[in-house]
Amino acid sequence: MSDELQDLYQEVILDHSRSPRNFRRLEAANRVAQGHNPLCGDNIALYLELEGGRVKDIGFQGSGCAISKASASILTEAVKGRTPDEIRRMFDRVHDLVTRGEVPDEDLGKLAVFAGVHRFPARVKCAMLAWHATLAALEGKDQPVTTENPAE
Ligand code: ZN
Repeated sequence: MSDELQDLYQEVILDHSRSPRNFRRLEAANRVAQGHNPLCGDNIALYLELEGGRVKDIGFQGSGCAISKASASILTEAVKGRTPDEIRRMFDRVHDLVTRGEVPDEDLGKLAVFAGVHRFPARVKCAMLAWHATLAALEGKDQPVTTENPAE
């Protein structure tokens, strides 16, 4: 990764952590999940409105480090309008990206900014927290998810 690209990625992450998108409780949500990453202290509540087999709207609230917030913010933009199957495939690609730095052939859009996370293993859980919460919400799980016992 070039220094220039890395700077750009950092800028995108900072921007999303400072002004997270869809940072709100969704009144129309029909799926809700809580996520917790005890290693870093990240907490997230994720709200999904599923309609006609697609994510019509999504919102999140919570507190945590810049990576967890930016990841949740970018996730909300990425999954809007998608089906649960598409989102599960995105989860796998993002997981490969942050654990191994593998950028898939398919265009991941802004999600690619997390490619550098694999060099900081402690941050992988921060980056994946919102994704675990999203899968839990899609599966309609009532139990809070924690990165210490990811329900995969
Ligand atoms: Zn964190």
